[in-house]
Amino acid sequence: MRYFSLKKRNAFVDFRQATLEGQAPDGGLYFPEKIPVWSNGLIRGLRQHSKASIGIGIMQPYVGDAIPTKELFTIVEETLSFDFPLRRIEERISSLELFHGPTLAFKDVGARFLSRCMGYFAQTLHQKIVVLVATSGDTGGAVADAFYNVPGTAVIVLYPSGKVSPVQEKQLTALGGNIHALEIEGDFDDCQRLVKMAFQDEALKKNILLTSSNSINISRWLPQQIYYALGLAQWDADSNPIIAVPSGNFGNLCAGLLAKQSGLPVEHFIAACNANEVFTSYMNTGQYCPTDSIPTLSNAMDVGNPSNFIRILELFNNNWQAIKETVSSVSITDAATTATIQKVHASKGYILDPHAAVAYKALQDHLENNETQKGFILGTADPVKFPDVVEQAIGISPVVPERLKKLMKKQKNSQLTSWEYPAFRSRAVEILKNI
Ligand SMILES: *Cc1c(COP(=O)(O)O)cnc(C)c1O
Repeated sequence: MRYFSLKKRNAFVDFRQATLEGQAPDGGLYFPEKIPVWSNGLIRGLRQHSKASIGIGIMQPYVGDAIPTKELFTIVEETLSFDFPLRRIEERISSLELFHGPTLAFKDVGARFLSRCMGYFAQTLHQKIVVLVATSGDTGGAVADAFYNVPGTAVIVLYPSGKVSPVQEKQLTALGGNIHALEIEGDFDDCQRLVKMAFQDEALKKNILLTSSNSINISRWLPQQIYYALGLAQWDADSNPIIAVPSGNFGNLCAGLLAKQSGLPVEHFIAACNANEVFTSYMNTGQYCPTDSIPTLSNAMDVGNPSNFIRILELFNNNWQAIKETVSSVSITDAATTATIQKVHASKGYILDPHAAVAYKALQDHLENNETQKGFILGTADPVKFPDVVEQAIGISPVVPERLKKLMKKQKNSQLTSWEYPAFRSRAVEILKNI
């Protein structure tokens, strides 16, 4: 399989190069040259096959000969080494819980697949792969955890001092080993600026491969298809499901749409958004008008210009009508989000996180007008990651899992670092010298 840049639409590269580069040199997103068609065996056999063999069936055509099947099997198996239960919440609504991984959010899947592919490529590179990542909270935790102890790789993560939650800070700083945390005396924009400057610093990049493990990397995007298939493997209704996806940067939804084009039997998708309704407006009007993001309770979805929008256009040949046949989109307010968490807890005893609550409300509204249909939402995070919002809605805080308690007892290990480039640079040089 080859990948091309959606900007200049040329420069074909293989899976290895697209993964190592993350973004194409022209600044575009990589996209597969062909969409694979899943075999009948894969689709009909969903119930019989193991998670790893479903994962291999989906990923093999994308990886091609960049990674031998035996190694790819190990990568997929490690990526999926936790549960993906489909839980019935009410008669026609279930939740595919994607948050049983190490950092309690669905981003673990993409981050783990990426880290292990990078680890494999590092063996043949004769260079260390160093991931430099700026985080406002969640992404950095998933990336740090995924790369922890992966041979041939190291992570330098920059986060704004005092601006991440206590759980997030521990996820970034308590690992040690090949994970190096810099606590920047500034805000998230300062962290991003330092990362950008480092990428332009040729002397700093000497002898290492500096990469960003960006969320648009194909190795984070493509494996997200697997859990849609794992959801369908547990689906036992007569009709195909409606799937509601809480969406921000639209990588998750776009992976589902890709899976459907390959043959996954899905009736319809709902892109569930918060007040950041750029995609909802596009679906209503055909006009795409990116804006600044608006802060909401479901803050991992506060995106005003989703990077994967362009991939959705490509999947449907820029045909707005065709997109409308497969996807609809709604925007859910913070008030409705809180009310949904409250109602579902009161009537079903199930605790939704604010992102899943957005999807729940969107699916519920849809099903009210479509009485014969059934569906599921993607549960993208454990409610324990958003204790304040949840507690405000239901009056109690979600139960803290044992492994999170263990994490909170661990020592924070970070270096307080100035927001000025020279200070950051000398810290980075020191770290790079010792890896
Ligand atoms: C990142 C994230 C989302 C949004 O996913 P996209 O792929 O960016 O649309 C939704 N929910 C949670 C909890 C997230 O962390």
